[in-house]
Amino acid sequence: MAKVYKFGGASVRDADGVRNLERIVRAADDDLMVVVSAMGKTTNALERVLDDLAAGREEKALSQWVDIIDYHVAIMKALGLQPGVDVRLQGEIPFDPTRPFDENYDQLISLGEIMSTQIIAVYLLKQGLSVEWWNMPKLLRTDDTWREAVVDDAASRSVIRAGWDRPQRPKIVVAQGFIGGTSDGRRTTLGREGSDYTAALLGNYIDAESVTIWKDVPGILNADPRLEPDTVLIPSLRYSDAVELSYSGAQIIHPKTIRPLENKHIPLLVKPFGDPSAPGSCISAEAVGPIDVPVYIWRKNQILITMRAKDFAFVLEESLSEIFDIIHRNRLKVSLIQSSAVTISVCVDNTRFVPDAIEALNEHFKVTYNDHLSLLTIRGTTPEILERAKAGRTILLCQTTRRTARLVVKEEHNQ
Ligand code: ASP
Ligand code: MG
Repeated sequence: MAKVYKFGGASVRDADGVRNLERIVRAADDDLMVVVSAMGKTTNALERVLDDLAAGREEKALSQWVDIIDYHVAIMKALGLQPGVDVRLQGEIPFDPTRPFDENYDQLISLGEIMSTQIIAVYLLKQGLSVEWWNMPKLLRTDDTWREAVVDDAASRSVIRAGWDRPQRPKIVVAQGFIGGTSDGRRTTLGREGSDYTAALLGNYIDAESVTIWKDVPGILNADPRLEPDTVLIPSLRYSDAVELSYSGAQIIHPKTIRPLENKHIPLLVKPFGDPSAPGSCISAEAVGPIDVPVYIWRKNQILITMRAKDFAFVLEESLSEIFDIIHRNRLKVSLIQSSAVTISVCVDNTRFVPDAIEALNEHFKVTYNDHLSLLTIRGTTPEILERAKAGRTILLCQTTRRTARLVVKEEHNQ
């Protein structure tokens, strides 16, 4: 049977991480699709290079670019690889000032995953493993919605299956997460933290027995250990729990990850890369038991936008579709909705798309907003838990159902 293993940036941030990856893949009996992110914080670093180039700060861009290359060269050397011979890294920065920013973004930022997978594939090969490097921009076909490309499932599935089902295929395939390509050969990206999604898609295409995300945490915890003192591991969750957790802001898996797996009932395992034999968490159609601890999920960087009809029309009855049309067209991600007779409020991620959306909404409604907010979702809440969560915080809005509370909270400096 085949399995998909996904390694995030933190797990391959240095040579030791790559050696650890080698131990983990060596221990697997199965055919493996290994999906890898960019090493360490490379994606953020590449974003800074692009910002500098776009702002005309060429020297600064170049020096940061050199740092990124040096970082990869140092890892290669520590792994006993010869830079320029075993792996030839990109020489020039792919940037074309005549192209739109977002298109440049995809051409440049995708190099993080290209570099990490090239290094890892060559290293594994040199360690005697049976390995093949796959170039996802040629295999995972997408449209050209830069930075949030939409995957063409049918086209991608047939190319990837053809490669995977080949009789002489090596046992291990190393592929980039997060990136794909258009039919005319330009690279695209699937949205930040999108490697989990790639792993799920590949799991679906090759009918994997399971998909494992190797992380720097023991599994899925009931709260962020940096924010709550006593966290516990949730050993088993249903797909719907996982969707809700990631939608609420849990950083553990990318929100798009579940659907391709649920479609084929492929379990998703979240395991600690530092302790491969630990059980971790398993997300599947049937959870072994209920989640019996309260779960705290923070979604940061929120903005609460309130729309009021200019002529006192009943917003809910008359304008709902218009509002959501604007929200959808402007690629806003809604995290919570609240309405009254004449207003509707939406909490959304405060992304670069927000100003244009507000401008569009302003044409039809009176718009007010609050930013610097977080959304705290507590699943399995009780009145006592809710009181404790509210204490000392500025709450702009609170929605509760029997078991779940959602609080829109002013961001404090200690969060
Ligand atoms: N390297 C990309 C990012 O940091 C994708 C990923 O890590 O999943 O967003
Ligand atoms: Mg990453």
